[in-house]
Amino acid sequence: MKLIVDTHCHTIASGHAYSTVQEMAQQASEQKLSLIAMTDHGPAMPHAASKLHFRNLKVLPSSMYGVEILKGAEVNIVGMDGSLDLSDSILQQLDLVIASFHLPCIKPGSEKENTSAVIQVMKNPYIHILGHTGNPAYPVQIERMVEAAGKYGKLIEINNSSLTSHSFRKGSWDRCMKILETCLDYKVPVVVGSDAHISWDVGKFEKAHEMFRQLNVPESLVLCSDPKKLKKHLGIKDNE
Ligand SMILES: [Zn+2]
Ligand SMILES: [Zn+2]
Repeated sequence: MKLIVDTHCHTIASGHAYSTVQEMAQQASEQKLSLIAMTDHGPAMPHAASKLHFRNLKVLPSSMYGVEILKGAEVNIVGMDGSLDLSDSILQQLDLVIASFHLPCIKPGSEKENTSAVIQVMKNPYIHILGHTGNPAYPVQIERMVEAAGKYGKLIEINNSSLTSHSFRKGSWDRCMKILETCLDYKVPVVVGSDAHISWDVGKFEKAHEMFRQLNVPESLVLCSDPKKLKKHLGIKDNE
């Protein structure tokens, strides 16, 4: 399976990432990707982008170096009621929105609390993807989460960076395997994000590839194999 879309990338705007939008796009072009989403951290993350950053994303060209650019965010889940750190009025202007738990922004709850938070988040029409849900620091009831993703039409992310040896989310492999198996059972589509915090990591999907091979995941379930399918899911018009 060829993965030609990266739905999760950070730039210097995130405060702890090291490349510019241009550098990310250039690297994506060298990696022969056809589309990347700029998903900088929402404002609850210390030193991350401001609300104004997200409001102003419209200044980015829709394509650079032959790579299509989606304007997005990785918003923080900041309350167990599913509250987020960007308002709907901002989110609705974005092409692609990931919602994730991060330690600087919210204390982990019980498995039940974490699950109910992500289910509440999925009720928000402007959220498209649940980010790195295999993180053992925020355990969720996998079947309930995946079933709700199917019900609300949300995508589950397999985060390549979670699966690497230098990950902050160590121990994600086993949970991600279970999540992916459950997505297969419920036919819930998945996306793959490099979660690159420097341009060299754009399009790095080795661990995700390995997981897809082990579980024999069909290409039809992985929207990062086809930008048209992803855009259709996001409700973005295809210009071609
Ligand atoms: Zn994240
Ligand atoms: Zn991220």
